[in-house]
Amino acid sequence: MSHALPPRSDLTGHEVLNQPEGRGDLDLWQGDPLLRSLIAAGGGDGAEALAPYGAALGGVATREAGREANRQPPELRLFDRAGRRLDEVHYHPAYHQLMQLGLEAGYAAIAWEGGQGGHQAHAAMVYLASQVEPGHCCPMTMTYAAVPALAADEALAALWQPKLTARHYDPAVRPLAEKRAATLGMAMTEKQGGSDVRANATRAERTADGWRLTGHKWFCSAPMSDGFLTLAQTEAGLSCFLVPRWLEGGRNPIQIQRLKDKLGNRANASSEIEYHGALAHLLGEEGRGVQTIIEMVHHTRLDTAMAPAGLMRAALGEAHHWCAHRSTFQRRLIDQPLMAQVLADLTLDWAGALALGLRVARAFDGAGEAPRAFARIAVALAKFLSNKRCGPLIGEAMEALGGMGYVEETPLPLLYREAPLNGIWEGSGNVICLDILRTLARDGAVREALQAELEAARGLNRHFDAAFEAHLARWAALPEEAEARWFAESAATLLTAATLLQSGETSLAEPYVATRLAGPRSQVAGALGRLDAGPILAHLGPAA
Ligand SMILES: Cc1cc2nc3c(=O)[nH]c(=O)nc-3n(C[C@H](O)[C@H](O)[C@H](O)COP(=O)(O)OP(=O)(O)OC[C@H]3O[C@@H](n4cnc5c(N)ncnc54)[C@H](O)[C@@H]3O)c2cc1C
Repeated sequence: MSHALPPRSDLTGHEVLNQPEGRGDLDLWQGDPLLRSLIAAGGGDGAEALAPYGAALGGVATREAGREANRQPPELRLFDRAGRRLDEVHYHPAYHQLMQLGLEAGYAAIAWEGGQGGHQAHAAMVYLASQVEPGHCCPMTMTYAAVPALAADEALAALWQPKLTARHYDPAVRPLAEKRAATLGMAMTEKQGGSDVRANATRAERTADGWRLTGHKWFCSAPMSDGFLTLAQTEAGLSCFLVPRWLEGGRNPIQIQRLKDKLGNRANASSEIEYHGALAHLLGEEGRGVQTIIEMVHHTRLDTAMAPAGLMRAALGEAHHWCAHRSTFQRRLIDQPLMAQVLADLTLDWAGALALGLRVARAFDGAGEAPRAFARIAVALAKFLSNKRCGPLIGEAMEALGGMGYVEETPLPLLYREAPLNGIWEGSGNVICLDILRTLARDGAVREALQAELEAARGLNRHFDAAFEAHLARWAALPEEAEARWFAESAATLLTAATLLQSGETSLAEPYVATRLAGPRSQVAGALGRLDAGPILAHLGPAA
C-alpha cells in the first residue's frame, strides 16, 4: 500500500534504524541475470513473453496480491440459501487477478502454440510465478499438462484444447461451449493409495447416455476447474476419463466434501470430492488409464522440478537484499565473511536447480527419440534433487534475516510452508527414485541419453571427470531398491554439474563441482568456508 505521507520514524523512545526497507517494485525478468543468460543460451525463445510477465509479477501490487490470496484463503460454498447444492469454491479477487495474469501471459498455452522453445518458456513462467504466489500455479500447471494427455482422443482434444490454450481466464460456472477459456485439473489420489494408483476404487459404468463414475478422490486441487482427468475401474481395468465439471443445462454430480486445511499453498483450494454418477468421457483405451494419464503426470513433473528453483530464487533474493541493507557489528551482513559463504553456497543450489530445470524443459521441446528419452529420466532427477535442496535453502535464507525472517510481513514464512510440496505431489521422493530405477532398467534409449549428456561434459573439469568415473564404477550394475536415493542423488548432482559446465557459467560451475563433487561435502550451507563469494553472488543481480 502506498502512503501519501511517509510513516513516522521519530517514535517516542526510539528511532527506527537499520531495518531494511521493502524491496519495492521488482522486475523478475530484468533483475535475474542468470535466468536471462540461460534463456539466451538456449536460443532466446520465449523472452518476449517472459519479459512483460516477469515485470508484472514483480510489482509491489502483484506481490501484495499474492500475499492477500494466501491470507484470505478460498471458501467452500456447498449450498445456496435454499439448501440446493452448489459445490463451489469462492476465491479472493487477488487469486483471480493472478490467474488472469498467468493465463494471459501464456503459462498454459505457450508450449502448445507451435513456436520454438515453448516448454522452456513455460518452465520459465513456472519459475517466475512461483516466486510470487505458488498456489495459483497448480491449476495453471495442470491445464498445461492435460493437453498432451487429451491427444489420446481426437474429438475431445478438438473440443477442449482450444479453450485450455486460449490465453484467457474464464472462471464462470458454465458448460465448456459457453466459455472463452477453460482449465483442467487432475483427480487420481484416493484414500487407500496415492502413489499406488492401481489401488483406485472409483467405478465407471457404461450407461445409455455415456460413462458414469461413482467414488471418491482424496486430493483434488483446483476443484473449480472445468473438468478433471481422473482414473476409474471398468471391467477392462483402470481407465482414464475426462469428467466435465459443468454440463449443458446442469451441474455434473460432483460433490466437494471439504477443503484441506494445509500447511501452505493456501491460495489453492485442494479438496476432497465424490462422484455420484458423474458423466465422464473415456480418454484413451479402456483398461490403459495409467498409460494415458502418465502423459499429464510427465508434464506436471516438469513444473514440480522448476517451481522449487523459483521458491529458492525468491528466498535468496530476500536474504540478499536484507544482508546488503542490514549491519551488525559495524559491517553490512553481506560483507561479513561467514554470511557471504552461506549465501554463496545457497546460490549454487538455486543456480543448479534453475539451469537443470531449463535444460530439461529444452528436452521437452526437442523432436525425436533422444530428447524424449532424456526428458523422461532428467525430469525425475531434477524433481528429486531440486526439491531436496529447496527446504533447507529456504530455512537458511530465513535465518539470514534473523527474527524478521520468521515474521509473516516478509515472504519467507510463505515460501517455507510451500517448500516441501513439490517434493510430495506428482511422485514423492522415494516413488521418484524407484521410477528412475525402473525407467533405466527397462529402457536402453533412456540409459544412453543420460550417459550421452554426462559424457558431453567430460573434459571440462577434472573433478567432474573423476566424480563421473567414480559414479560409473559404483553403479556398473543398476542399484537395488534400497540404494535408489543414493543413486538418484549422485546422478542428479552430476547432471546438474554437467549442465552448469556446459552452460558456460564458469563462475557457478567451478565452485558447484568443487563443493558438490570433489572432497568432503558438508550437510550445512557455508560450512566449507572456501568459496569466492563475490562472483557467485553477482549472479543474483543487484540486491534491490
Ligand atoms: C496440497 C496437495 C495437493 C494435491 N493435489 C492433488 C490433485 O490435485 N490430484 C491428485 O490426484 N492428487 C493430489 N495430491 C496427492 C498427491 O499426489 C499424493 O499425496 C502423493 O502422490 C502421495 O500419495 P499418498 O498421499 O497416497 O502417499 P503414499 O502413496 O501412501 O506414500 C507415502 C510415502 O511412502 C513413499 N512410498 C510409496 N511407495 C513406496 C515404496 N514402494 N518404497 C518406498 N517408499 C514408498 C512415498 O514416496 C511417500 O513418501 C495432492 C497432495 C497435496 C499434499
